[in-house]
Amino acid sequence: MEKYYLKINNNLLSVSDKYISYSKKIDKNNDHILDDQEITDFLIKNDDLKFEVTRKGISIINKDLIINDFKNYLMDNLKGPDFIRDYNQIVSKMIELEKKYPDKVKLEYLGKTFEGRDIIAMRISKNINDEEGKKKSILITGLHHAREWATGEAALNIVEKLLESNDNELNKYLNDLDIYILPVVNPDGYEYSLKEDAWWRKNRTKFEKGIGVDLNRNYFTPKDPTLYRQPNDKPDSTWDDYGASDSVYSDTYRGPYGNSEEEIKAISKLVNSKKIDTVIDLHSYGNMILYPWGYTTNPTELDNIYREVGKEINNSVNNSFKLMQAIKLYPTTGSSLDYHHEEGRFSYTFEIGSSFFPKSKQELDTQKEQVLKMVKVFMNNLVNGKIPTQKYAVNLK
Ligand SMILES: [Zn+2]
Repeated sequence: MEKYYLKINNNLLSVSDKYISYSKKIDKNNDHILDDQEITDFLIKNDDLKFEVTRKGISIINKDLIINDFKNYLMDNLKGPDFIRDYNQIVSKMIELEKKYPDKVKLEYLGKTFEGRDIIAMRISKNINDEEGKKKSILITGLHHAREWATGEAALNIVEKLLESNDNELNKYLNDLDIYILPVVNPDGYEYSLKEDAWWRKNRTKFEKGIGVDLNRNYFTPKDPTLYRQPNDKPDSTWDDYGASDSVYSDTYRGPYGNSEEEIKAISKLVNSKKIDTVIDLHSYGNMILYPWGYTTNPTELDNIYREVGKEINNSVNNSFKLMQAIKLYPTTGSSLDYHHEEGRFSYTFEIGSSFFPKSKQELDTQKEQVLKMVKVFMNNLVNGKIPTQKYAVNLK
């Protein structure tokens, strides 16, 4: 039996050639990034003896630990590929589009991150000088989570297509809607993921004992504080609170309190000041269309509409996505989805792609095209009145 992995007293002693040759086999250009699924597939197919030597003797290693260590081992080799634009490139593109289409585009500077980067949304409209709030509106957000690289590109692609394609359908939506796009909710985390640690998920706020808040666990609304923190769930520094963690070391750290993070304050400010009606939040991965709630299995008052429109959206991508209530994936608290719905904004989360890290430009382009098709169906239903606007949803209560 081949020995290919050895740990002694929690120190990774050696990673065998078997792992390295596997990663090289896929990685002809040495830029391939293995995702969780590939690592798991590999471990299942190559289920040799996995053991560690401890003071007590030899013991079998838990597969999750191996996946984690393997990720750490690969980390040095994971860098953003050329076809993924970094934050400066994305901002340059946004500024370029504003200069090129001054009558259609306006950048909204919403605040600064912990590391001092601007948080920027784009407003896109047929005539940017038209008064805001008269038309129905939609906000599309990407990159709450730093490592979900395709989501920023997919959001920016919608802007580029709205402005630069001759698609009649898109021209109609440009005419009928106010469209807001925030391609990078988490600029600090995104830069860190592209350049330092690909698996990074949170923002980069520094605390006494650790770094980073999971921005999609930090939303808070006084209308229902329990969607941020459940009754009986007291701050207690553990890893496994309901739907989010109180531990700063956790990847799902919800932050010291709801709405503590500049990025989330920026979004609240935007949706409230512009009275935005609806929201689509882009994440990766898993090919899923999620609708509220994420914190309870109770249906929302708009459950039928979420399912009907969701089915139609899924049709546009040959039903290749799974449509479900978000909590069916796993419970989440303080999420974008629940926050916006609670405040009267009809809201979906799209989980796009089959890994965090697109392996080729073609793979990224496919995801961008899918998202555009799905967003078009959403916009059509917003224009034709099937999707309720904010006022309507509020009136239902
Ligand atoms: Zn995410």
